[in-house]
Amino acid sequence: MKLQTDPRDTARPHFETLAVHAGQDPDPATGAIMPAIYQTSTYVQPDVGVHKGYEYSRTGNPTRSVLEANLAALEGARFGLAFASGCAAAATILHLLEAGDHVVAMDDLYGGTYRLFDNVFAQQALTFSYVDMTDPARVEEAVTPRTRLIWIETPTNPLLKLADIAAVADIGRRTGARVVVDNTFMTPYLQRPLELGADLSLHSTTKYLNGHSDVIGGCVMTSDPELHERLAYLQNAIGAVPGPMDAWLVLRGIKTLALRMERHVQNAQRIAEYLEGHPHVTRVIYPGLRSHPQFDLASRQMRLPGGMISLELDADLDAARRFAAGTRVFSLAESLGGVESLIEIPAAMTHAAMTPERRRAVGVADGLIRLSVGIEHPDDLIADLETAFSRL
Ligand SMILES: *Cc1c(COP(=O)(O)O)cnc(C)c1O
Repeated sequence: MKLQTDPRDTARPHFETLAVHAGQDPDPATGAIMPAIYQTSTYVQPDVGVHKGYEYSRTGNPTRSVLEANLAALEGARFGLAFASGCAAAATILHLLEAGDHVVAMDDLYGGTYRLFDNVFAQQALTFSYVDMTDPARVEEAVTPRTRLIWIETPTNPLLKLADIAAVADIGRRTGARVVVDNTFMTPYLQRPLELGADLSLHSTTKYLNGHSDVIGGCVMTSDPELHERLAYLQNAIGAVPGPMDAWLVLRGIKTLALRMERHVQNAQRIAEYLEGHPHVTRVIYPGLRSHPQFDLASRQMRLPGGMISLELDADLDAARRFAAGTRVFSLAESLGGVESLIEIPAAMTHAAMTPERRRAVGVADGLIRLSVGIEHPDDLIADLETAFSRL
């Protein structure tokens, strides 16, 4: 029986069911319940130009096709495309534009996205304006007649600022700009950009979607057939595609996505509340706290507030560094969204590619600490932080 995954069909199963089954039928030859890893570059043709839908694995690979169908179903999209990394997905989207085109982007972006915009595509004559999208009016002011793309990241990294996706999507519709949401921090389980009016939803599957810190990957989903066709053309023309083994690993990770996200959020909420009452902590940023300046928007736009927390200590930069290096259950590392908890200092690690001026302008303090809260027992996580505090 084929699972109904088209977003236009109201009989579509729930998210958890789609995560386990969408795009995946038992192998007709063997009954294998898991999709095969088609580790092949090419496909034999019985006659010239006659084939079974696959000719060459840059253009298409059956394992990748299963992942793409699954990702589309999760995001409530008609189409999904998988890439070799989140950055490859972002770069392929930017290749939709032409020299002279303009992009309005959130001012507190993933560090690698900044690098791609300012150090790669700015040299190809694209122009970028960075605005604080917590107020949609600023987006509207920044739009020019050459604006082709509005790039939202919400919540942002690392300050967890929110943009109102529906309000910005409305500006995109009125001005003729396409709206992209980098949905990596939320996953389609917690936030549904296409249902809020965005044209494209992008992920680094490296993070929560795969969730096990063993793959680099990316994806783009849309329900617009023309956009999909152009992006699929670019995916093949540029060639930044994932191998079948990585596609398979992401598929396996996604099966437990809903369970993992529930636990990430439960743990993060507890830790955020613990930190908020801690005498050494001057500021906790978490969209699930009433103290978050956009708590109402978070409650409206996100199903749950996610697994990322940022905090500042009442101590100098050296102490913040010692704190981050002094935990045992939280590992000191870049990246996020895996089952294991991670701690890092954005100014010295993930956001070191930003100039100090830009970091200051955006509000990324040198001593800011970012936590990616994993799915371990929350008591062990809190005890670990408590030990690190006691050494300050
Ligand atoms: C990691 C990340 C990216 C880039 O993805 P890669 O898979 O590392 O190329 C883009 N956006 C966000 C929000 C990320 O966290």
